[in-house]
Amino acid sequence: MFLHHRFYELGSAFYSVERIKPLNEQRLVEINLPLAQFLSVDFKDQQTLDTLNGEISVPKSLSMVYAGHQFGGFSPQLGDGRGILLGELEGQDGCFYDLHIKGVGFTPFSRMGDGRAVLRSSIREYLVSEYMNALGVPSSRALALYDSNQAVYRERPEPGAMLARVAKTHIRFGHFEYFFYTKKTEELDALIQYSLNQYFPTCLKEENPILAMFKDIVLRTADMIAHWQAIGFQHGVMNTDNFSILGETIDYGPYGFMEEYDPSWVCNHSDHEGRYAFGRQPSVGLWNLNCLARSFSHHLTKEQLVEALTLYETQLEERFSSIMSNKMGVSKEALTDSLMSEWLSIIKKERLDYTTAFRLLSHVSKETPSVLLDEVIDREAAREFLERYWEKREDRRDQAAVSDLMLKTNPKFVLRNYLAHQVIESAEQGNYLPFRKLLNVLSSPFSEHEESHDLAMPSPEWGKQLEVSCSS
Ligand code: AMP
Ligand code: MG
Ligand code: MG
Repeated sequence: MFLHHRFYELGSAFYSVERIKPLNEQRLVEINLPLAQFLSVDFKDQQTLDTLNGEISVPKSLSMVYAGHQFGGFSPQLGDGRGILLGELEGQDGCFYDLHIKGVGFTPFSRMGDGRAVLRSSIREYLVSEYMNALGVPSSRALALYDSNQAVYRERPEPGAMLARVAKTHIRFGHFEYFFYTKKTEELDALIQYSLNQYFPTCLKEENPILAMFKDIVLRTADMIAHWQAIGFQHGVMNTDNFSILGETIDYGPYGFMEEYDPSWVCNHSDHEGRYAFGRQPSVGLWNLNCLARSFSHHLTKEQLVEALTLYETQLEERFSSIMSNKMGVSKEALTDSLMSEWLSIIKKERLDYTTAFRLLSHVSKETPSVLLDEVIDREAAREFLERYWEKREDRRDQAAVSDLMLKTNPKFVLRNYLAHQVIESAEQGNYLPFRKLLNVLSSPFSEHEESHDLAMPSPEWGKQLEVSCSS
């Protein structure tokens, strides 16, 4: 495993050099082999194994410092309180990927925390990152999972774990905020230049590279959130320290996937005000970009910042409607607001499962309306909807091809809280088979996986009551 240390070269103002503090009797329990291969990480190599689990220290491994707006308030200093960037790996695509280990023990940024991660949250992060990746949503990835017999105290003692994860970058909006608010202008300049060189090289050719980069960040953020809204994903902790400048979904905590359609749904039990409710995510994305804009205010004029921020809404709407048109099998032009809202109101009124409803629609043909009608109470309303829907689909001649495309856009499987809960319970007893079975379907959620049909079932009532919160 050959590690690069590009971020390290920025200098010590940007991090603290740290090493992994291994857990008691930690065991490697899951490896993402395709990803490992892509990154040329050889899990048969002893030195690689010992580097990943902290037995061998990497002299240039580090915990990053950053700040962030958390639930609306500014925290001037956060940082990797339980994470370490071991270095960067070169992928087979020639791009660099951060190799980050979460749950490594105390760092100077741990504040009140213990620097640890529990098996529960590490499994949740593993599952969701692979699921998001399979759905085509930009996301960090899971590379390897370690468990241990070391107790970590949350609401109850839980097994400690470590997750090796990979992302294009771990530079967050909060990085820029940290240097801006501490008035470290040289460091802010250096960070901007570094980001341009490493991540936005095409912007260097533009007349105003910094403006071009900021615009790109706006567009990528809009794209990411359009994906979230289309698939029914709720992040749960949309603080600016959890927002990547490359528009990848990172820092999974109390996330959730919407079951009954409800824009006011709040997955994070600690989010008492519902600040990050599902329907608020688009506006929070813009709010976060406004925070980032302030950090660029010495480099760009107010007019330039506004010009860039103005791109957000159009991009989000454009991307959202293009994903929804694929989900509904109707061209973007034909997908009127009313057709979409009629469909959503059927989902809502009939209390259909959001993901499953789209899967059903993918299976409906003119000859088999019962696929949908049998699932609803108000058959007449659904029939009327289908009539209008077929009109819109009519112009797409090959209906079988449309269905086929819809089945590749609307997953059969969704990562429900109760499924994660069940595999976590087994894993805590040392049985990882249910985890692997779930991971397998979530990694190719558009396939039928007949043998795992049980995993496509809607949540039982007890499963809908499960609470997830920031504590992990
Ligand atoms: P999050 O919103 O979960 O990404 O975390 C917010 C901040 O709290 C980050 O700076 C984390 O590094 C830090 N943090 C979260 N959990 C812990 C923990 N158990 N120990 C130390 N720091 C933590
Ligand atoms: Mg975070
Ligand atoms: Mg967290």
